Order: sequence, then C-alpha cells, then structure tokens
Amino acid sequence: MKMNRRTEITVETHEVTTIRVTDNPGVTLFCEICGVMTLHISVPDAAAMLKLKETAIFDLVQVGKIHLCEAEDSAPLVCADSILPLSSEGRQ
Ligand SMILES: [Zn+2]
Repeated sequence: MKMNRRTEITVETHEVTTIRVTDNPGVTLFCEICGVMTLHISVPDAAAMLKLKETAIFDLVQVGKIHLCEAEDSAPLVCADSILPLSSEGRQ
C-alpha cells in the first residue's frame, strides 16, 4: 500500500517599524518650566512629531504650550515633555 505524505510549511513573519525623525536623539537639559531635567529636541524634530510647521511650534511656545530652551551654543531646543501631551491630543 502506498502512503501519501503531506508536508505543511508555515511561515510566520514579524515586522517592526521604527520611525526616527533624525539621527539626533536630542539632549537632556534643565527645563525651567518643568523644573526638571528633560529631553530636548530641535524645533524641526518637534514640528515633524506634531505634524506642524516650525512657525506653529513657535506659536505654541508663545502661548506656553511648548517649552523652549535657548541653549547658548546651539539652535533653540524644545522640551519633549511639553510636546508629548500635544501629540496625544492630535491622535484623538
Ligand atoms: Zn518643559
């Protein structure tokens, strides 16, 4: 008697997508408004995170929604802690 052999092959794939705005992960600085050391990122990175124009970031700084830290030897940086609540608002 001839036996039929059946082979089943199951392929599982997993995909992880990481989106990084730039190679610069940011710097930890003291935020005077938060009163603690927080991660600070560049204005262009903040704009990309919130899907806003850079001018809109400065508008949000003016109304106190985003904390800006003007470092002596670099471009202005924004407090990432102040951006996070805004990014979650945008997803609702
Ligand atoms: Zn802050």
